[in-house]
Amino acid sequence: MSPVTRILEGGCQCGHVRYRISGAPDGLVVCHCSACQRQTGSAFAMSLIVRKQDFALQQGTLKSFTRVADSGNRLEGHFCPDCGVRIFHSTAAVPDKIRVRPGTLDDRSWLKPDKQIWTRSRQPWLAAELKPLPAHEGQA
Ligand SMILES: [Zn+2]
Ligand SMILES: [Zn+2]
Repeated sequence: MSPVTRILEGGCQCGHVRYRISGAPDGLVVCHCSACQRQTGSAFAMSLIVRKQDFALQQGTLKSFTRVADSGNRLEGHFCPDCGVRIFHSTAAVPDKIRVRPGTLDDRSWLKPDKQIWTRSRQPWLAAELKPLPAHEGQA
């Protein structure tokens, strides 16, 4: 992922929620865990690691949902109460960082993952495309 110094903006699908990220993200992770597959309804999810202090909600409110991850950490998912789009995840285990769903950014053209995790539940047809990335069978 190339370093980004510009301000990043994004929002949910219905327009209720808008946010801004003012600092350079720390990395982009592809997650193949079964919880992410279920949450996105897709093959995998991406998480853009962002410093909590760099994230600001510009418009709308978020609802949250908590689940216990395989790591034992309590994960909070924050989403638009109207359209249900997941905006970011947080955990008390990593209080200074959040994981933004980068598909909610307005400009997604620069996104390039740095690594992939939970490859043990990766869908088999994805293997070729993601092969060059460092791979971890579980959390990393
Ligand atoms: Zn919405
Ligand atoms: Zn996951």
